[in-house]
This record gives sequence, C-alpha cells and structure tokens, in this order.
Amino acid sequence: MAVASVVLSAELPELDGSLRWSQLEAWAVAMRDEVPAVVLAAALEQAQDRLIDRVCGPRWLPVRDLPAPFACPGCGVMQDFARKGRRSRPRRIDIAVGVVRLHLANVGCRACGRVFAPLLLMLDLSGRRRTDRLAVDLAELASQMSFARAAQVARSFGAPASTGRAHHAVADVAPLLDGIGAAELIDSGASAAVVILDGTGMRAGPRRLGIACNIALGLTARSGPRRRRRAHTVLLGVTIDQPWAAMGEQLAALDAPVIVVVDGEPAITRLAETTWPDTPIQRCWWHLPRALRWALYADKAPHPWANAKRAELAELLRRTAREHRTHSQALHSYDTFSASITGAHHHAATELLLGARDQVFTCLLPEVRRDLAWLGGPELGSGVLERVMRELNARTDIGGSRWSINGLRDLVTVQLARMTDHPAWRTLRQNTHPFSTISYKISTPKFNAC
Ligand SMILES: [Zn+2]
Repeated sequence: MAVASVVLSAELPELDGSLRWSQLEAWAVAMRDEVPAVVLAAALEQAQDRLIDRVCGPRWLPVRDLPAPFACPGCGVMQDFARKGRRSRPRRIDIAVGVVRLHLANVGCRACGRVFAPLLLMLDLSGRRRTDRLAVDLAELASQMSFARAAQVARSFGAPASTGRAHHAVADVAPLLDGIGAAELIDSGASAAVVILDGTGMRAGPRRLGIACNIALGLTARSGPRRRRRAHTVLLGVTIDQPWAAMGEQLAALDAPVIVVVDGEPAITRLAETTWPDTPIQRCWWHLPRALRWALYADKAPHPWANAKRAELAELLRRTAREHRTHSQALHSYDTFSASITGAHHHAATELLLGARDQVFTCLLPEVRRDLAWLGGPELGSGVLERVMRELNARTDIGGSRWSINGLRDLVTVQLARMTDHPAWRTLRQNTHPFSTISYKISTPKFNAC
C-alpha cells in the first residue's frame, strides 16, 4: 500500500463584506468538475513513478535485469526494462467524473527493443479513450430522455458528454447486453407464473407504418401493501422488426407458465398455443373492450351506441373481479352481453366476442386460481406490460424522429434492460460501478490555533 497525496490551494478573497456566498458555491462547483480527475491523474502518476523506479532502478543509476509486474507486449519477457522518458503529450481518458490527463512514462524492453507505457498496459487502458462506466452512465440517461438532454444532464454533473457521445454510448452498451431476450440468461429460479405477450409499433426503418417491437414479460411476484401492490417482472423476450414466430425459440426454453396473457392478435395467440400447448390462455381485459370498439367501427355501428357498449363490457369485466364471481356466473353475463350485440347484427363484433369467449375468464378457472393464489391472484390483463410499452413509446417518440432499425434496437435493449433490471444489466452495472475500496482521508492543517 503506497500513499499518494495531492495538495490543493486556493486564492480565497478576504472576508471583507464583498465576498458573496454564491461566489464561494461557484468555486465549490468548479472544483467538483475538476478535482476528481486531477487527483486521480496525480495519484496514478505518482504510482507510475514508483513503478518505474522499482523496475528500472533510480533515474541516474539504472539497474539491469530487475523483474517487472508486467510483460513486454513485444516479446513477453518480464524483466530488464530501461527508462525511455515521458511522452510529451498527455493521454486523455474520459471517465465518469471528468477528463483524466495522464503524463505517461515509457520503458524499453532490452530483449526486443519495444517501447511502451506500462501504466496503460497494467490498467488495461491501451487504445481506450472512454471508460465503460461513463458509457453505461450515458446510456442509462439516454434511455430515459433525448440524447441531447442526456448529454446536458451528464455535463451538469461533471461528466464529459455530448449528444453524439450519448448516442454512441447506447450503441456501445447494447451489445454488452446481448443476454437481453436470450433464454439462457434468464434466472432459472425466477421462472414466471404468468407470461404476458404484447407488441407495439415504432417509427423506424423506411416503411411508412414503421416496425413492430414485440415483448414477452413474465410476472414472478407481487409485493407491497394491499392497495398498492407492485408487480415484479422479468424480461423473457424482445424482438424488433421480426414476426412473433421469431420469439418462439426464446420462449420454448422456459418452463411452461400457469397462464399466458394475450391481446387477441392471432399471431400472438398462435405462438402461445404452439409454445405451451397445455397452458391456458387469458385474453387481456384491457384490450378486449378496445377491440370491441374497433369491431363496432368496422360494423358501422352508431358511435354513441358503440361507445356505450365498450363501456358496458369494461364495467362487466371490472364487476366480475370486484364481486368475485365464479367462472360460470361470469360467462353467463358475458353471453347476455354478447346477445345484445348479436341481436343488432354486428358481424365483426359478434365474431370478436365469440372468438374471445373461451379465453376471457380463464383466470377464474378453479385450477388456475389455485396455482396463482400465492401470487395474489392472476394478472387480469397486460397492464404491467402496457406501462412498459408506454415508457418505451414515450422515449422513442421524442421529437417525432424516425429511427434506424439498429439504432432503435440498441435503445430498446438498453431501456428494457434498465426498466426490468435484467440480470445482464445488473451484472454490467456491478462490473462498471463497484464499491470503492480505496480509503482516503482529507487533512486540513490548522493555522493559528488559539
Ligand atoms: Zn520485449
């Protein structure tokens, strides 16, 4: 353990009444922006000097054949290096708290003649201009706000950032999260009892209608007080600009859930049926009244009546849950409601209600209730996933910009990883944001102690 020390001195104005607090605070903020990186550089240069003394001998008295804690990148030997002076220009490395400028010392290998800077070698900084921690910090911000705004926020906390760098950070971090959506990285312990499948459209690529982002989310637990239950979710799969069938492989690797929640889109239902043939399917209670409204629109039903019917169905579903109805009671009131539509000869709406009938009250089946009792009851809709989708859309819609498909994939990957606290994200953050184990103290000499 060696001690590195840095002396900070400041030309503080006299306390004569003209010195304002805001000036002092501005000084403190200016120090925040500069001190960490400068202290780090000074400490590293002191460590570098000690290393070179140890490996090459004192400056004016070189010693031959001394062992080194590093190997020559040219020939691999670990001894007999000679001083080769300092590089004239400092090496710039952008880190999470500012810009570090290192004055690097070179050594030369007496075996092969290679000249290199051992500090870069030992800290694995060769070829690096920016640390992973800075990239993760920038990507984390950029997954919550526009690139420009993310850069602005990062800069206000002393991080070297620009719009372009925030953009690059997302592109750099996304590939490090390649476990996102890959089944092999899902905790086997956190197998999901409820799987929710849903998709959303996003403005990307050359097509006018954009592309589809499909997501599979698992519900693993609920916690918190009765009225403010919080759902715990795991990200099971995500695809960008691919058909639903593409997610089959990711999902097939999972244990079959107790129930699958779908929005009614045929491709999603098909995927659920083929992946887990024995798992009952639940139609989302949030989507069904909306789908009914669309069907009645296609049937050219009068708008006020169609709106009323939509509200009626939504209320029917709410009442079913509130009044703890049985499966057959619920089905009975559903059939009565359906008859009021059928009687009015609305074919699309009739077909919708008939097609959904077998899946609307799956959550009320006694065996499903029993298997999900520990979860505090099933999720009656895709509400949890809807919230995720809303956040995704809120971020990707900023400024009405049109994304490249790759750019969107990177952003969605980082955003979903963060929002669901995916294991790949947690690991990346733990690796780049370890606790500091280097202890330090700040000593303040006392003048004129009386
Ligand atoms: Zn060598």
